[in-house]
Amino acid sequence: MKKIALLGSTGSIGQQTLEVIENNPDLFSVEVLTANNNVNLLIKQTLKFMPNVVIISNEEKYKQVKEALAHLPVKVYAGCDAIAQVVEMGSIDTVVTAMVGYSGLLPTIRAVKARKQIALANKETLVVAGDLITRLATENKSEILPIDSEHSAIFQCLVGEAEESVEKIILTCSGGPFHGKSREQLEKVTVKEALKHPNWDMGAKITIDSATLMNKGFEVIEAKWLFGLKPEQIEVVVHPQSIIHSMVQFCDGSIKAQLGLPDMRIPIQFALSYPIRIQNKLPRFDFAACPTFTFTTPDTKIFRNLALSFEALNKGGNLACVLNAANEVSVKAFINEKISFPDIARINEEVMARIPFVKHPDLDDYIESDKTARMLAEEIIRSRTK
Ligand code: MG
Repeated sequence: MKKIALLGSTGSIGQQTLEVIENNPDLFSVEVLTANNNVNLLIKQTLKFMPNVVIISNEEKYKQVKEALAHLPVKVYAGCDAIAQVVEMGSIDTVVTAMVGYSGLLPTIRAVKARKQIALANKETLVVAGDLITRLATENKSEILPIDSEHSAIFQCLVGEAEESVEKIILTCSGGPFHGKSREQLEKVTVKEALKHPNWDMGAKITIDSATLMNKGFEVIEAKWLFGLKPEQIEVVVHPQSIIHSMVQFCDGSIKAQLGLPDMRIPIQFALSYPIRIQNKLPRFDFAACPTFTFTTPDTKIFRNLALSFEALNKGGNLACVLNAANEVSVKAFINEKISFPDIARINEEVMARIPFVKHPDLDDYIESDKTARMLAEEIIRSRTK
């Protein structure tokens, strides 16, 4: 029985993780649930899965959760510090990091140091501090298993292969809802349009990131750290059908691909059950129903965020951390209708150019870079909306 701490249980990945656990009660049990704000769902999940510990990150909502669960033998805590502490609990085998954005960084570091197995859905953790996280993971023999569908695909293609036989990886990208649109058309894109992803049903932040190709850019950085690759070994290909989840090309020219319907429960299940595969009853892909697979190169002149990611990857240091921080602020401003869709990448680019570069950042440098990049992004947005 694998005992799981699920960080971010009320989000899209969190809910689907609980579905996988529910379908495999002999294999997995829930030890910890954490959520940001969604008190009602957190309470509902607690009643169903009976974890040992529940944490609500928003401290103002502590009383409400505590009272609702008073009749149960469940410990209730509040705040980000509690989340970072609880992942060290001796009874936890695997920590699923399914929270959004930068908030995943500190609890992931604590979990790695406590030698937990990590099922990583929070890609921002590796984007912000991939260097630090992977170094700590090696030192502490903490295994990091990808939940992101592209990285799960690559991970599955690599099973049984020698590391040195990998020539490159090919990350597939749906292109998002605005693939093929011109610069002028993108200026007029609305929040509602950007929140409609053609193939995947996801949370708001990642849906906007998919539309700007920031998500793909972050996945490029995530892949570098997860699989120890050089930037030139990572290629992005637009595949609008989202059936091939990614590929690996080997030194003999062979390419392996992992395919399936776009359903996050498959990579979640693989991360939890690895190294074995377990059966499920999810819908299967039908080739006759999707006879055409197409591929094109992404336009990084129009979708600047992807180019910015490669720049951050090539230069290293604190640049990816700065890009992530700027992007969290600019995406929020776009959702709140304060800036246009192309402004997201413009602001990200300006922040990257203006924040001091740190070649070899430690944790304090990352925290400082994140803070100053956010402040600068907010300042730029304020000056634009005046
Ligand atoms: Mg993905």
